[in-house]
This record gives sequence, structure tokens and C-alpha cells, in this order.
Amino acid sequence: MAAVVVVSLGGWLLWRAWGDGGPPGAGRPAAGGSSDAAAGGSDGKKGAGSDGTAAPGDRLKGRTVLLDPGHNPHNRDHGREIGRQVDIGTGRKECDTTGTATDDGYAEASFTLDVARRARTLLQHEGAKVIFTQDGDRPYGPCVDERAAAGNKAHADAAVSIHADGSAAGNRGFHVILPARVSAGPADTSAIVGPARKLGERLAGRFATATGSARSNYIGGGTGLDTRSDLGGLNLSHVPKVFIECGNMRDPKDAAQLTDAGWREKAARGITAGITDFLTR
Ligand SMILES: [Zn+2]
Repeated sequence: MAAVVVVSLGGWLLWRAWGDGGPPGAGRPAAGGSSDAAAGGSDGKKGAGSDGTAAPGDRLKGRTVLLDPGHNPHNRDHGREIGRQVDIGTGRKECDTTGTATDDGYAEASFTLDVARRARTLLQHEGAKVIFTQDGDRPYGPCVDERAAAGNKAHADAAVSIHADGSAAGNRGFHVILPARVSAGPADTSAIVGPARKLGERLAGRFATATGSARSNYIGGGTGLDTRSDLGGLNLSHVPKVFIECGNMRDPKDAAQLTDAGWREKAARGITAGITDFLTR
């Protein structure tokens, strides 16, 4: 897309932060996060604003964000390993799954990695330390309990697991999954349900604005929010964590968006803005 519609202050600040270099990801590899972050960090002009508020580049300084790209492109070759059962408190579940794909074969695991890498670049521009559960660099997984443990170990200030759904054609839009209050075995979400809801609400609002996508027409009753107790990645988290299902890969119209790199950049902007909102307001 040639035109960028700036519809919010956060979006404007992000846009300004990119300066004359253009948005990260435009014309360069999405994985080029480290060099982008270094460029942002070395810019001496990005100090506190004259009104005392943190300028772009500093707003998430000192904050740690865990991004969890759902599934793994190599899971399909490791059915036995990812089929192993792990304890998620409310029951036992597969270590990990292959995820879904569009009808044309674009894998959810490729989508989640691409969007996460784009979001990492943007979050690093805001000064955040960004940790991944996997970066396409493992033979499979990690298991869902390890994905939760990664955020816990990092003492992440916010954690977002990125996915796309595999529902029936005609089911459209995005939704954010919030952790239910559970206390069972290794699962205890009592301390995170409140902040996770706030994170999820900010994420949904910003994602809608950034992408122009509607909230799900098949889950959440129009709110774009769903609450679940059957996801190990949420049950076992001790830090505010949500999942976002960015769209439905099995719907042709949603799939056309999910397979478009320009749309994925918008999705990454929405995720970044939602996390930034949560951590700064
Ligand atoms: Zn998924």
C-alpha cells in the first residue's frame, strides 16, 4: 500500500519514529530487527520530549516483551515429538500442533513468524527488549508449557502469542483470547487475569484500527474477545499474556489479507501499538 492512513496518536508517533527511513519492513527483510534497533538507539535526538513525555525510541525502554509465534514451520515433520502430552493444569494437551494453513498452502506457522518479526522490529524501535519463544530456529515446538515458561523466566511485562485461525469459510475477523481464572496443578492465573484483560482490550482496539479488520463475526459476540481455560500457553503464564488470532486462514477474504505482506505489516503495527498502549497508559 502506498498510502498510510494515520488514525491515532500512537500511530503518528510510530510513523514519526521511523523518520525519513520509512516504516521498518518496507523494502527490507522483516528479520532485520537488530540493525533497526541499533539505529534507533544511537539517535541522540530521541530523548524525552519537551513536555516531559517519553519520545518514540524511549517509551518502552526497560520493558521486556515476549512474542510467541504460534506453532513452528517444522512441526509437521515431528508428529511424534509434538504429540507428547504436557500438563496444562486444567488437563493434558499436545506439546504443540502444526497449526492451520490457507487453502493455497500458506502455513499459519509462516504467518506467525513473519508478523512476530515485524512486530519485534517495531517494538525495538520503541526501546523494548523483545524475546521470542522460537524464531524458526528449532526442529519443532517449543511445547506450550515451555512457551509459557519463557515469558515467566524473562519476567516479561507483556506477552502476546500470535496465531491465525482455521475456521469455516464465511467466518471472518480477528479475536483476542484472554486467560480464564484457573487454579489447578501448575496453573494459577489469578494474578494475571486482570492485567491480561487490559492488554487484550488495548490489543483488540489497536489491531482493529491498524488493520481495518473487523472483530470476529463467529467468536466473542462482536467484542473480539474470548476467554479460555484450555490453553497451556495462558494457563501456565505468570505474566500478562494473551493470544491474538489475526484472521481466519480458511476464509478466502481473510486469507487474501493474511497472505499480503503489506497487511501483515499493519497487523504488526497494531500489535505493537496495543502492547505500547498497555505498557505506557
Ligand atoms: Zn494457531
